[in-house]
Amino acid sequence: MRYAVFGDIHGNLDALEAVLAEIERLGADALICLGDIVGYGAEPRECIARVRELECLTLAGNHDHAAIGKLDVEFFNPFAREAAMWTREELSDEDRDYLASLGFVEHVDGFAVAHGSLHGPELFNYVQSIHDAELSLEALDKPLLLVGHTHVPLTFFDSRPMTYSMDLEIPVDPKSRTIANVGSVGQPRDEDPRACFGLYDTDDAQVTLYRVPYDVEAAGRKIVDAGLPEALALWLQLGK
Ligand code: ZN
Repeated sequence: MRYAVFGDIHGNLDALEAVLAEIERLGADALICLGDIVGYGAEPRECIARVRELECLTLAGNHDHAAIGKLDVEFFNPFAREAAMWTREELSDEDRDYLASLGFVEHVDGFAVAHGSLHGPELFNYVQSIHDAELSLEALDKPLLLVGHTHVPLTFFDSRPMTYSMDLEIPVDPKSRTIANVGSVGQPRDEDPRACFGLYDTDDAQVTLYRVPYDVEAAGRKIVDAGLPEALALWLQLGK
């Protein structure tokens, strides 16, 4: 089976369409969306509609919850907060019900998926250090956990001592455990503005990360035209 796993779309339809076209080209048996469909970008409703059309397993992200008032935006940076409040106004009741229906963790075909972590997935904790990875490994009973949330594609391997890498090709050892972050579709933060997603091939026991160029300027223009903070458009260009 080939699973295309993507998330952190953040209302960036241009990036989402580019990623879905690339998935189509590569071929996948199933798609999984790790959440944060909305927040930051100018097309939250369009992104929700596009993801729903895929009828794939989809999880909740913190920005999805912020947009429906299920999460306090007090700890968001000011731009994220402004975007969250803007997104709240944009969404229809149906959009809200849909986002509210999404779960936190799923176990699929020998691997687990969550938006941010397995240690307190409903708290949207991050896996960005070896310590975080250890906490999530304690809750992981499968060889592989795929997450997003940090917008940085980074993989942790359960070795002694623990190792990590930013390689695009990630071997999945069935006798060990690996936590791989598949990056962000709509707001990469590793200084590479190209959209990012992962393809997990269970036969090859490998996750491969792909970077997809898309019209960053168009997405940025929509942000400015919507009256959202210009910094959000700049972040897209810088990959921050
Ligand atoms: Zn996100």
